[in-house]
Amino acid sequence: NAPAETRKFEAEVAQVLHLVTHSLYSHKEIFLRELISNASDACDKLRFESIANPALSAGDSELHIDVSWDETARTITVRDNGIGMSRDEVVANIGTIASSGTKRFLEAMSGEQKADARLIGQFGVGFYSAFVVADKVTVITRRADAPEGEGVKWESDGKGEYSLEQVDQPQRGTAVILHLKADEDEFLKGWQLKSLIRKYSDHVAFPIRTPVEKDGKPTDAFESTNAASALWTKPKSEISDEDYQSFYKSLGHDFNDALAWTHNRVEGSQSFTTLLYLPEQPPFDLMMGGRDERKGLKLYIKRVFIMDAAEELLPNYLRFVRGVVDADDLPLNVSREILQQNRQLDRIKGACVKRVLDLIEKLARDEPEKFATFYKAFGNTLKEGISEDANNRERIAKLLRFASTKGEGTAQNVSLDDYIGRMAVGQDAIWYITADSYAAAAGSPQLEAFKAKGIEVLLMSDRIDEWMIGSLSEYEGKKLKSVAKGDVPLDEADKQKQEEATKAAEPLLKKLKELLGDRVGEVKVSARLTDSPSCLALSDYEMAPHLARLLREAGQ
Ligand code: ADP
Ligand code: MG
Repeated sequence: NAPAETRKFEAEVAQVLHLVTHSLYSHKEIFLRELISNASDACDKLRFESIANPALSAGDSELHIDVSWDETARTITVRDNGIGMSRDEVVANIGTIASSGTKRFLEAMSGEQKADARLIGQFGVGFYSAFVVADKVTVITRRADAPEGEGVKWESDGKGEYSLEQVDQPQRGTAVILHLKADEDEFLKGWQLKSLIRKYSDHVAFPIRTPVEKDGKPTDAFESTNAASALWTKPKSEISDEDYQSFYKSLGHDFNDALAWTHNRVEGSQSFTTLLYLPEQPPFDLMMGGRDERKGLKLYIKRVFIMDAAEELLPNYLRFVRGVVDADDLPLNVSREILQQNRQLDRIKGACVKRVLDLIEKLARDEPEKFATFYKAFGNTLKEGISEDANNRERIAKLLRFASTKGEGTAQNVSLDDYIGRMAVGQDAIWYITADSYAAAAGSPQLEAFKAKGIEVLLMSDRIDEWMIGSLSEYEGKKLKSVAKGDVPLDEADKQKQEEATKAAEPLLKKLKELLGDRVGEVKVSARLTDSPSCLALSDYEMAPHLARLLREAGQ
């Protein structure tokens, strides 16, 4: 038997301990997430090693994590039946600075303390967060392949030294016992621990069990506290629609069912899983650019919740999407600042955008009613993508729907493809009109000539349309042109007629220009009108009157 001994932490460990306990002070509860995450890793490792060596988990193959508390002893214990640690591993993993993560953590944290304290687990220093709430930590562990007599007890007050002792340990795996500091009693309550488990570790794939309480006291029986499913890690064939819907609701922010979802796993040099949902209805503040809705997308790393990262994982115009991204191997030194310029994350983001657009396209193709619901709720948000996401402009444009002079009243259900399909031979542009309202667009005198010639015109009256169309000058090789700008398309006979009319009207045009002066650019004979005597038109590069008005309103 190796003798009990006392050792000193390496200098850097003491430094890390100091930093962790101080920087985490306002997020103390993180300790539980970190210890559960380690326990879950240990279960993952056992599960993996058992493939080659089934004896490792024989007799105790149900992997789980138990979180218990003892009010009298003032302890919290996190116990797993995972891989456990040998004496050497204990020394290497929690007594020295062997992991490069610890070094990175020191670099990131010293100085400006820039790193987000909540991401501490990603630096490989999560274990030390135990000392934020505990003044003494005891670890009792036995590696799955070691005999019962070779358990290890490690203990420290986190002040520079730890003790190490060999103990008998019938159970494989690890127990971490926190002896709470005097003012940390809030964690000695079952409901508190359970709510933290659900908040941070609900989707850890192993059952996290807590004692059944009787008369407010914990008993020896345990029950599972978390959903334990990590739904997105299951094969699609094993997930029912109800499962998907209930998971959607567990994400929060919406009590309604989701409209549709897409669930994908990408394997390769970089592996990740995405489970993305389209809601049925927009949250109240979506259109106002509210901040809440940017919370719907959760980033996990190996099933451990890292943060709400909607802004890092999706462009703004897809801000209505909710769901989970679980990356297997994002770098350990991840922080919000780093995430924003991380290459791997760019790939994940690209994949998310592709999946969402695929999903919307599929709805448009196969489920017109759902698509209509989607479009009503989020069509105008999607339009922002025309200018925000130049790479996907054509794909997004294909999804847009408009009212039209050949459509069904105010209904926005004519696609650009529908329009092109109906274009007359020789017509080379997609014509549209923008206005404040459907009525103003549909009743505009600008449409007269187009109606007379049977040319379809898209009627755009959403606030964002004029702005969007500024970034959509072409679709499928066809120019998009405003009926209010420049000259209307004429055939040869029309052109001749117009020239003759212009000649005949020359004195009148001159007179009008004199009368109107600077208020107009020029007075022209136009083929634009059939019934009305005159209308205002814009030159090709002028701003539409109601956009000019919008900008004035916005103080531009
Ligand atoms: P990380 O989990 O990122 O490696 P931690 O500080 O959380 O960093 O843990 C340090 C190491 O201690 C782990 O990598 C693991 O080797 C070991 N360890 C911690 N908890 C356990 C446990 N419950 N079972 C087995 N090993 C553990
Ligand atoms: Mg950890």
